[in-house]
Amino acid sequence: MAHIVVVGAGLGGTPAAYELRERLPKNHRVTLVNATDYFQFVPSNPWLAVGWRERAQITVPIGPCLARKDIGFVAKAVTQIDAGANRLTLDGGEALDYDYLVITTGPKLSFNEVPGAGPLSAGGGGFTHSVCSVDHAQAFFADYQTFLENPGPVVVGAMPGASCFGPAYEFAFILDTDLRRRKLRHKVPITYVTSEPYIGHLGLGGVGDSKSMLESEMRNRDMKWITNAKTTKVEEGKMFATQLDDLGNLYKEHELGFKISMMLPAFKGVDAVAAVPNLCNPRGFVLIDEFQRSKAYRNIFSAGVCVAIPPVEVTPVPTGTPKTGYMIESMVSAIAHNIADELAGKPAQAKGTWNAICLADMGDTGAAFVALPQIPPRNVNWFKKGKWVHLAKIAFEKYFLRKIRYGISEPVYEKYVLKALGIVRLVEKKQA
Ligand SMILES: Cc1cc2nc3c(=O)[nH]c(=O)nc-3n(C[C@H](O)[C@H](O)[C@H](O)COP(=O)(O)OP(=O)(O)OC[C@H]3O[C@@H](n4cnc5c(N)ncnc54)[C@H](O)[C@@H]3O)c2cc1C
Repeated sequence: MAHIVVVGAGLGGTPAAYELRERLPKNHRVTLVNATDYFQFVPSNPWLAVGWRERAQITVPIGPCLARKDIGFVAKAVTQIDAGANRLTLDGGEALDYDYLVITTGPKLSFNEVPGAGPLSAGGGGFTHSVCSVDHAQAFFADYQTFLENPGPVVVGAMPGASCFGPAYEFAFILDTDLRRRKLRHKVPITYVTSEPYIGHLGLGGVGDSKSMLESEMRNRDMKWITNAKTTKVEEGKMFATQLDDLGNLYKEHELGFKISMMLPAFKGVDAVAAVPNLCNPRGFVLIDEFQRSKAYRNIFSAGVCVAIPPVEVTPVPTGTPKTGYMIESMVSAIAHNIADELAGKPAQAKGTWNAICLADMGDTGAAFVALPQIPPRNVNWFKKGKWVHLAKIAFEKYFLRKIRYGISEPVYEKYVLKALGIVRLVEKKQA
């Protein structure tokens, strides 16, 4: 009998626990360990930040859902991983042994790389907000109430080294929509400040016509933008950014006044994972092979934001590659297949497709992109805008939360609809 421990009950880890339970014979144990006792649907945080969602609508107390599927749950942070001894230390000192470890701990939000940035509660300087967690989105909403009484300039964007740009665009457009509905938009100049070399780069070197479509959307919504921006410091109501040209030379220094700001930070690996000898790259992301297995430890697998992926291309201000939901699920499926095969005495051979699909809400409309594969040149490379994306995103939220509540690992929608679009989780063995 083997004990498989999954660390991190997010978009990757929770489906990983369900899929492992479904694939493995009952004599093997599956336990999910998470820093909190709830699952949060991160993609809905921008809606929470402007009051379009309540916290309870996008969080799920996860323990009872897992118990119904015979999956163990521990609501404690892992503070140490002893990969040699196959042992975790949990917050409070308790030990938990594993035979296989699946690391899905998501990002450490590295606010302190820019002095003054990020919520105080997350170790930041307190002058900008984030929507990376439900707590951060709620904190934005609290300050937004005061802002609405006396509105002024807003800065939204992504810091140097950020890899997750979709939500920064989403948030700018959602905020714009919310302010228009409140008839306050004319009092709020919005500037989008990003480390991307051009609008629509998205950490992916662009997808289809993302550059012209997102630029056009920003022009239509009266938003200004600064690209190649290296935000250097934030003070109360003021952001400092050095803009580089395409060769990486100084182009312009900016001092931007704001009343409220949301800037996505650079990501790193979480401390307990980053501290394991030989497991990670210098930023603490897990180094894995094509089977999602650690390059250093054969019984450790990893998926999601916490794995190391090289940037799609070098940019004047550093940017990373996003890891989107469906790509993460493809990694998770590969892990479940590989652990099941190993336990059955067969070699691990499943590889995730890592196809990037993203639905980005824009408040009243939305933009979707599909990049197959993620690294160009691509077989499928499209970016489309329409109200249907806004509706699809709402449907996706409902569908994913249902999947988490009821422990469904790959329901009909994915199996048939996405497959019909040529979007599958695993690389077919004959292509491998
Ligand atoms: C605001 C935002 C919006 C996004 N929107 C989309 C979208 O619309 N579509 C899309 O495809 N992608 C989106 N993404 C990208 C990506 O899908 C999400 O970031 C996703 O949540 C990543 O999943 P994950 O499992 O890697 O990490 P997470 O979902 O962040 O889960 C990590 C989990 O690990 C836990 N954890 C961390 N450290 C420890 C520890 N030491 N011990 C125990 N538990 C620990 C955390 O508590 C958390 O529950 C978005 C990202 C952000 C930030």
